[in-house]
Amino acid sequence: MAHINSNYLNIKESYLFSEVAKRTAKFKESHPDADIIRLGIGDVTRPLAPTVIEALHSGVDDMAKAESFKGYGPEQGYDFIKNSLKEYYAEKGVELDKDEIFISDGAKSDLGNILDIFSKDNVVLVPDPVYPVYVDTNTMDGREIVYLKADESNSFLPLPDKSIKADLIYICSPNNPTGACYNREQLTKWVNYANENNSVILFDAAYECFVSDDSLPRSIYEIEGAKTCAIEFCSFSKTAGFTGTRCGYTVVPFALERDGYKLNKFWLRRQTTKFNGVCYIVQKGAASVFTDEGKKQIRENINYYKENAKIITDTLDRLGIWYCGGKHSPYIWFRCPGNMGSWEFFDALLEKANVVGTPGEGFGENGKGYFRLTSFSTKENTTEAMRRFEKAFGNND
Ligand code: PLP
Repeated sequence: MAHINSNYLNIKESYLFSEVAKRTAKFKESHPDADIIRLGIGDVTRPLAPTVIEALHSGVDDMAKAESFKGYGPEQGYDFIKNSLKEYYAEKGVELDKDEIFISDGAKSDLGNILDIFSKDNVVLVPDPVYPVYVDTNTMDGREIVYLKADESNSFLPLPDKSIKADLIYICSPNNPTGACYNREQLTKWVNYANENNSVILFDAAYECFVSDDSLPRSIYEIEGAKTCAIEFCSFSKTAGFTGTRCGYTVVPFALERDGYKLNKFWLRRQTTKFNGVCYIVQKGAASVFTDEGKKQIRENINYYKENAKIITDTLDRLGIWYCGGKHSPYIWFRCPGNMGSWEFFDALLEKANVVGTPGEGFGENGKGYFRLTSFSTKENTTEAMRRFEKAFGNND
């Protein structure tokens, strides 16, 4: 008789987005003429850059001719994109070997898949609030999870607690959902802690391109000692609008060893066994992001979202509402006005301003009383949503 993986029974129902959809649909039913604006989405809205489109077309053309047709490619990605990424890292002052870089179909898959190379009895440390994928993927394997409190007292950027011994540590910076971003000194503390404890940091850099201050790290490898304790995950999703096109990458340094084995070798073995590589056409499109024209066009899109973030934070500033994020991140995380609970504020915002956001408590206990808005909508909708927000909550706080 086949048995199920009973760990799946321990995964909490992901009710956050379904509850948001349910409440929004119910409101729409009773207010059919309401012009609802959604600032809860974590998906991008700008189309792919023209350079990327051109590269995708040329990839398709390659597939049409016998001399340039591609069948199975290298599981870990074509050299042309790995070399572009190597140069991209060099611009940040990080020297990588191309074979330390693995091309994937997105950060989410690799964040889950990487757990294949770690023992199930590793203790996992995640901040709370947190991107739910870290918690659910470890719960599926039955690993013990320890939570680290992120709150206003540490600006939602918790630092290592020497009394907690953890083997796998998740750090997401700039953070989803809080938008908070670690500085060099803070990340150095994490790297030192991981090296001292022989832990491994799983560093999620999905939003690195939103960092707009050169003094802040975009990669954990900008921190001395990180190559012996960290794996980095990144994505073209938010950098270049690839949420629907699917491409990302994972860096596993040769210097990273545990139990006397190189994790790079383990990951290569895992990938070549269970993964058959990202579509050639998509890799062509992704590589074009690193051309001069590609970089310029991508930056224009990121700046568009950053202007939306500023519209949101300017409103919160005027209303005197505490928030973090928005500056180096598409996410703005704020305390609900009038000490409302997350869901109470969700309903009030929908009712009074016809705006949909994401209740903070959906990301963990410490999200209670907080709320997340994103800058991925259009400028017009963001402006109108925040005009309504200000009108509705301007005098209440
Ligand atoms: N990591 C974080 C923190 C995210 O917020 C997301 C997507 O929203 C991802 C990873 C997933 O990225 P991808 O689209 O590359 O799978």
